[in-house]
Amino acid sequence: MKVLKFGGTSLGSPERMHTVADLITQERGKKIVVLSAVSGTTNTLVNIAAALSKKNHIEADAIINQLYEVYQAYCVNLLHKTNPLKKGKEIVEAHFTVLRSMVGAEYSADVEKEILAQGELLSTKLFVTYLEQEGINSTLLPALEFMRIDEENEPDEAYIREHLHQLLKQNSDQDLFITQGYICLNSQNRVDNLQRGGSDYTASLVGEAVDASEIQIWTDIDGMHNNDPRIVKHTYPIPKLSFDEAAELAYFGAKILHPSSIRPAQHANIPVRLLNTMKPEAAGTLITADIEPEREFTAVAAKDGITAIKVKSSRMLLAYGFLRKVFEIFENYRTPIDLITTSEVAVSLTIDNQAHISEIKDELEDFGEVEVHTDHSIICIVGNMPFSKVGMLKKVLDAMGDIPIRMVSYGGSKFNISLLIDSQFKAETLTRLNEKIFGQAR
Ligand code: ASP
Ligand code: MG
Repeated sequence: MKVLKFGGTSLGSPERMHTVADLITQERGKKIVVLSAVSGTTNTLVNIAAALSKKNHIEADAIINQLYEVYQAYCVNLLHKTNPLKKGKEIVEAHFTVLRSMVGAEYSADVEKEILAQGELLSTKLFVTYLEQEGINSTLLPALEFMRIDEENEPDEAYIREHLHQLLKQNSDQDLFITQGYICLNSQNRVDNLQRGGSDYTASLVGEAVDASEIQIWTDIDGMHNNDPRIVKHTYPIPKLSFDEAAELAYFGAKILHPSSIRPAQHANIPVRLLNTMKPEAAGTLITADIEPEREFTAVAAKDGITAIKVKSSRMLLAYGFLRKVFEIFENYRTPIDLITTSEVAVSLTIDNQAHISEIKDELEDFGEVEVHTDHSIICIVGNMPFSKVGMLKKVLDAMGDIPIRMVSYGGSKFNISLLIDSQFKAETLTRLNEKIFGQAR
């Protein structure tokens, strides 16, 4: 069994959806196809929910009507035979009836999640209708019947495996399954989701649950690049990555992959291939457990919106238990820490979730002087860096030249150097690293 996931841009127009159908029929053997919503839809659904949360019903109605037009046109261009077109229009009608009913409902987080789920429900149902029209036999596996998160909002892997296997068993003679990415049920049996970009995570969880031979993530770029192609001119796709490298890059800003999506694949040791719908012949990126021993630097990525916090305390000097008390404060506010550096009298750390920053700062002040700096970026440099290998950190620091560095983290793992810089220097940092450690022109 293979799992093939197609992102929103791969479904961005009816023609693209036709291409997706071609691609999946070329792939032999049993497969589960995971689809995102058509590009732009989830953002629009977020806007509808935002309007409703402000009780702005007129605005919500207007956005719904616009989106309805988009789907009407999409349907007409996707489906040309009478019966499939009729069916497609009924699907659109049904989901827009749900959206319109939300305008009258009392706004809540549950209503919002119900709204956000409509995008994937629409894309998958329309796709299955198109496959039917083309005489391609497939079965829709409703994600809400097997994808589930627990009280901690973590995927309930045992539940997913059991329910997915049941559904597959009921359709054991079928080779092609279609399902929704992103959406799931939560521990209260309400509609929920795996966070923005979560369709990759769905694909990986499905892959793990069915012990897939491969997970393919189809997007609109030819693999994971060595640097951010939106910022830096000369970047190139990385042919092979290890799971560890890919996880670091996805977490620290490489937008191509949802940060959580590597873990299930790595756990079950399933190769992940990043492929380009617009250029299916391109090799893309293959992610496996193997490392490339000859390669020094693999890639750099940047993560914005980082806050640096420094706690300076004479009580830290020669004391034990100090860091635990500091970390406990972050734990109590469920705020993950990314980078840490310490000296004998101070500790600096970074967070990207600022929801509780003022409470955290108040509590930290019991220990000493606290400084908070927002608008920073983590630059994550990934590569093969066994501790015996001399000079890689030097190369990175040399490349930085006169750019001020707020924190450096090296030695946490054998494949990562992280730097914290003021975000205003991000573009220049990425460009210099591309020049100096990857030998690319400016
Ligand atoms: N449609 C959702 C989003 O836009 C999930 C996904 O595309 O992965 O975030
Ligand atoms: Mg995505």
